[in-house]
Amino acid sequence: SVSIDFSGDTRILTVSNQKGGVGKTTSAVNVASALAGLGAKVLVIDLDPQGNASTALGVPHNADTQSIYDVLIEELPLAEIVQQSPEDENLFCAPSTIHLAGAEIELVSQVAREHRLRSALGEYLDAHPMDFVIIDCPPSLGLLTINAFTAANEVFIPIQCEYYALEGLSQLLGSIQMIQKHLNPGLHLSTILLTMFDGRTRLAQQVADEVRTHFPDQVLDTVIPRSVRVSEAPSFGQTVIAYDGQSAGAVAYREAAVEIASRTATQSKEK
Ligand code: ADP
Ligand code: MG
Repeated sequence: SVSIDFSGDTRILTVSNQKGGVGKTTSAVNVASALAGLGAKVLVIDLDPQGNASTALGVPHNADTQSIYDVLIEELPLAEIVQQSPEDENLFCAPSTIHLAGAEIELVSQVAREHRLRSALGEYLDAHPMDFVIIDCPPSLGLLTINAFTAANEVFIPIQCEYYALEGLSQLLGSIQMIQKHLNPGLHLSTILLTMFDGRTRLAQQVADEVRTHFPDQVLDTVIPRSVRVSEAPSFGQTVIAYDGQSAGAVAYREAAVEIASRTATQSKEK
């Protein structure tokens, strides 16, 4: 069994990659659930209008649900929208609804448009201490993702081991540098997770080797295998941790969570 000290400051990780379908949402909810299983208090912020993270955490998010949209645009306190996931008493979700699709454009004309999430989260955490906040970003580098980068201290990039993985990565790294310079000097790339790995293909192995060569300190040792159980779980409103805790995907996500938790915020800052 694993004993991990969660007594430090809240670690705020934004799960980002402007490519769609690389495992951002899957990694956000499964790492979050696994961390909660280790005893950490975890808040997932669903920043994607598709609401897939809210679905996977079993949290209602129909058009009438008060959501992260109301927080960003109407300045509703985050505490009014956060729901507990039925999966774990330590696991919480700030849901997204379809209204968030308009936020990208509505934010443009707002005051302090890049800082909306950071302000809301700061106020929330003062009254509701969390060990981890995990932000699930949409597949773009627009104002929603910029809000996530501004609110976070760590960037977590999932990389799919199938297509040319490093494509688009330099643009993402450039965005992170720009945020560090202008909005959030504390932001750093702490974690890269290789997802949907199929060890039988040479391409997957090549992709993994290439990413490890470029980012030796950030890539987790754990690799997430491609697994049908992982892709089935959301249709039951569950993470794979709850849906099939003994499956290879669940085991891998729990190992990834232990690795993430074992790196203290300070350690990952030194890298
Ligand atoms: P993103 O949030 O980056 O768009 P998702 O997490 O939604 O990506 O994943 C894209 C698709 O791939 C989803 O249908 C998801 O269920 C599936 N998927 C993600 N990880 C795995 C995995 N390890 N094995 C099998 N399918 C996966
Ligand atoms: Mg997603």
